[in-house]
Amino acid sequence: MTIKLEARKSCPVCESQASDLVYQLPFHNQSLKKFMVDFYGQRADLAFLEDYKFQIKKCPSCGFLFQVNTLNDEGMSALYGKWVDNEKSLHKKQQANARLFRQYAGQLENISQLFRQPSHQLKILEYGMGWGYWSRMASAFGYQVSGLEVSPERVEHARSLGVNTIQSLPDGGSNFDFIYANQVFEHLDHPLQTLCELRDQLKTGGIIYLRVPDGRKVESQLRSHGWSENLNAIHPLEHVNCFTRKTLKTLAKNARLNPVQPPLRVDIKRFWGGLKREINDRWLTTHIYFRRE
Ligand SMILES: [Zn+2]
Repeated sequence: MTIKLEARKSCPVCESQASDLVYQLPFHNQSLKKFMVDFYGQRADLAFLEDYKFQIKKCPSCGFLFQVNTLNDEGMSALYGKWVDNEKSLHKKQQANARLFRQYAGQLENISQLFRQPSHQLKILEYGMGWGYWSRMASAFGYQVSGLEVSPERVEHARSLGVNTIQSLPDGGSNFDFIYANQVFEHLDHPLQTLCELRDQLKTGGIIYLRVPDGRKVESQLRSHGWSENLNAIHPLEHVNCFTRKTLKTLAKNARLNPVQPPLRVDIKRFWGGLKREINDRWLTTHIYFRRE
């Protein structure tokens, strides 16, 4: 099988056959070509792209914006196995500061609150686990975690961190209380189909968290200024689905999933508790930080 692009013939969110062309640029365009070559470096031979166009359509029924041409299976494996800069991506995670982990901590605290259950009673799937740092932290918070990831390098790394990984979705449905999919759905060829499969993996009352790049300004920028490399939400070949809050909700609705409000972060009980802790830590207790100057 050779690597090529295939055109998506219907809306990936609502399956409508109709579509309006918003923008197109041949891949042999100078600035697009330079961007792709700089981005993928020596790892990819992109000569095959010369025959294709970077083409963005909008679905007139649901308003979804998407790249028409996506890589076939062979191309997808090459892209995520070989072309993406694994070293850079891993380095970025390894160099992450505590702020990233604080963000993870907030998300993990939310899960337990959403279910009003202690973490050890909840089963989580991280779909598109990447290098495994979120899953590792979820385990440390007491959840029962399984991580699923297509890239063998990432799986191996996650295992080295002690993460429990799985190779495919478990048989039967209703396996998980919570599914976490961070920066995954913008990459998928068939997002609706995938989301339906994940919905079936949720127990009744289960919750899925989807996080994708915010594409709300992409359409107007494409129409007024054309493509430029800062339009990350519609990154050629990779971010083939460009969501807004509205279209992400439409996708979920079509998979028979309803939105849930996140738990309120500022609650008065915690505020007073927090204040008491601050006063104690600063002036009353015997746990103190010391620095050698
Ligand atoms: Zn649509």
